[in-house]
Amino acid sequence: MNACELCDSPGGEILWQDDFCRVIRVGGGEADAFPGFCRVIWQAHARELSDLTAPERRHLLDVVAATEAAVRAVVHPDKINLASLGNVVPHLHWHVIPRWTDDSHFPAPIWATASRPPPARALPTNTDLLAALTAHLDTT
Ligand SMILES: [Zn+2]
Repeated sequence: MNACELCDSPGGEILWQDDFCRVIRVGGGEADAFPGFCRVIWQAHARELSDLTAPERRHLLDVVAATEAAVRAVVHPDKINLASLGNVVPHLHWHVIPRWTDDSHFPAPIWATASRPPPARALPTNTDLLAALTAHLDTT
């Protein structure tokens, strides 16, 4: 009854984490269609952003912004989509999605029906993403 897929597994390849949140790389077909797609996942169960304390909220949003900056620096997308839905899992999380004007769904959200096949794009390395993320994280 207590099974939670994001407590039982990281939900992707972990790029970085601390006691509060983790940054993972999304795998599978979504990774191929949107190379560099990452998620920032709150480690504890929290359903809504306003359930966090103010310092927790600032920390989470700082990590989301650093992840956005890292994805921009590494894969140079035309746009970033930030999305927080969380209807399925009890962990607050943010999707950080690189978008290109010729990607499979542009300008629709990535969860809409695809309008064309995804163009082939190189996948960024974890090393490059982590270096960019570390550079943008304010760890003070
Ligand atoms: Zn959980």
